[in-house]
Amino acid sequence: MGDKVASAVSLHEVEQVYPNGTRALMPVSLDIRPGEFVSLLGPSGCGKSTLLKMIAGLLKPTAGRIQLSGQQLSFVFQEATLMPWADVHANVRLPLDLAGVPRPQADGRVDEALQLVGLSAFARQRPRELSGGMQMRVSIARGLVTRPRLLLMDEPFGALDEITRNRLDADLLALWRQQGLTVVFVTHSITEAVFLSSRVIVMGARPGRVVEDYALDNPWPRDDDYRTSPAFNAHGRHLQHRLSQASALTGDAP
Ligand code: ADP
Repeated sequence: MGDKVASAVSLHEVEQVYPNGTRALMPVSLDIRPGEFVSLLGPSGCGKSTLLKMIAGLLKPTAGRIQLSGQQLSFVFQEATLMPWADVHANVRLPLDLAGVPRPQADGRVDEALQLVGLSAFARQRPRELSGGMQMRVSIARGLVTRPRLLLMDEPFGALDEITRNRLDADLLALWRQQGLTVVFVTHSITEAVFLSSRVIVMGARPGRVVEDYALDNPWPRDDDYRTSPAFNAHGRHLQHRLSQASALTGDAP
């Protein structure tokens, strides 16, 4: 065996042209290592969701190759998409029910997942009794209950107010570190990408493509002080500049 760690996700010249002829993505090649927190950052329509759906196996690439290192994955959507008639516990248990996991074992795993997202006290509530942020926590618990190694998240906090979003971002980071997950996270928020990521893939639209692969090193762990630090601002400025450059190339407004 070589000393090279196998990629968690490997994309080789992956393209997407939708059946109506829309070219959503120019060829993309990307290697994501186990334990990375990678954000796909770019304006609406640059192909972020398309790329994430192809990694998830929900959409077949028109050309190119995608390899996952045989990992269990979960997908968290922008909408919490909970069953309104079922309580929080039953909503989180759904993937285990679908997989035929016996009830006592499933119940234990649900309790664990609810604890991870701080919702143990809300197991018997219905979704409508919860705030938007709490509903999203339920959705994340449902993603974690199968114990994935790879978590794919499509703008999961995009519909939340900024304060709630910041809190969920911080909790997600803590979970990522504690569980040793690999995360691929779609966002069009520069500050969210800078707060969360160990690496940002900057994308441009028309045609959808990768314009930069940007590593964000320390500090870890990240907290509220990081949000106001010079390093945070420098990363944000750099990414803003890159996004503006990319849209200037195609004549779009930044
Ligand atoms: P993003 O997530 O960055 O907003 P998407 O991946 O959703 O971008 O979309 C990329 C491009 O592909 C956009 O121009 C969008 O309109 C187009 N698109 C997305 N889904 C489809 C589809 N099912 N059929 C045709 N075009 C699509």
